[in-house]
Amino acid sequence: MHRDDTFDIRSEGGAPTAAARELENALRPLSFDDFTGQRQAVDNLRVFTRAAAHRGEPLDHTLLSGPPGLGKTTLAGIIAREMGGRLKITSGPVLDKPADLAGLLAALERGDVLFIDEIHRLQPVVEEYLYSAMEDYRLDIMLERGAAARTVSIDLAPFTLIGATTRSGMLTAPLRARFGISLHLQYYDAQTLATIVERSARLLATPLEAEAAVEIARRSRGTPRIANALLRRVRDFAQVEADGTVRPAVARRALEALGVDSRGLDATDNKILTTLIDKFQGGPVGLGTLATAIGEDPGTVEDVCEPYLIQEGFIKRTPRGREATLLAYRHLQRTPRADILQGTLFAEEA
Ligand code: ADP
Repeated sequence: MHRDDTFDIRSEGGAPTAAARELENALRPLSFDDFTGQRQAVDNLRVFTRAAAHRGEPLDHTLLSGPPGLGKTTLAGIIAREMGGRLKITSGPVLDKPADLAGLLAALERGDVLFIDEIHRLQPVVEEYLYSAMEDYRLDIMLERGAAARTVSIDLAPFTLIGATTRSGMLTAPLRARFGISLHLQYYDAQTLATIVERSARLLATPLEAEAAVEIARRSRGTPRIANALLRRVRDFAQVEADGTVRPAVARRALEALGVDSRGLDATDNKILTTLIDKFQGGPVGLGTLATAIGEDPGTVEDVCEPYLIQEGFIKRTPRGREATLLAYRHLQRTPRADILQGTLFAEEA
């Protein structure tokens, strides 16, 4: 999915650019204490990880769900460090043959963490091999076919699988059942994101005023990855057009120049709101109809795009479908439907 026409830290193919990846690695928190936000998930993980390390056992297999850029890979790295193991990173779509998975698993050592991003996109045949690996640290590989077929069992070192997914609803029941821990990451509020932006600026040795950090945070769609990428771009403006310090005025000017939406919404978000209002008179409209109208998969709209729009109050989920709120009309500078305006007035009076 292409998430933003005007500002995109990813290259055309969807993979992060080399510069973006380098920046991400430089800014990754390395310990639970350094990881800002997601308090509940982090507190739980800290306890589970330390208890497992204390017992000398690997951490239970863990499923991390939530939108992209919220810190799933980062948390996997922190867990690996705490367990004294290495982190191996792969992703569902890359593992297209059982042999790919077997090679990775066989190379793991005690305490290592295998991180599988987009785990909901594993091929069924690869996924089946994963079951015995997760459950018994054993891999049963079928050699030959037909009459000569035989199975060879390979013992694996005790490891932790961390699966990440943006679409937890798409996991099969047998795979889901093999995760002992399942945590959902939420979008960050602006205050927490501002703290993350300040930390990143310190690491990049970029002077930054607190108000400018809030300005960047407000327009980052609740996502640290976007906040860090915006900081880097704003820093360019501050260095070329000002004295190098990121102040609110230069931050605002840079964000305008980059075409970043005033509320941090991306191109897909705005397409959903425009379609809902201009094509469906604000709704209610069913998820399938809305997704078809914008050319997206309904699951992606539901799991990846909508949660932020609902959290920020741009759309409502009703029994009859999705509805645009007054905030959405105002954001797109459309005249609100009379009943939406009235409904809001009554709600405000009540
Ligand atoms: P995901 O795996 O969920 O897509 P990542 O773990 O790759 O996200 O995080 C993306 C970027 O955002 C990384 O550069 C990381 O340093 C930064 N980041 C994510 N969460 C936090 C956080 N809680 N505090 C500071 N930086 C964070």
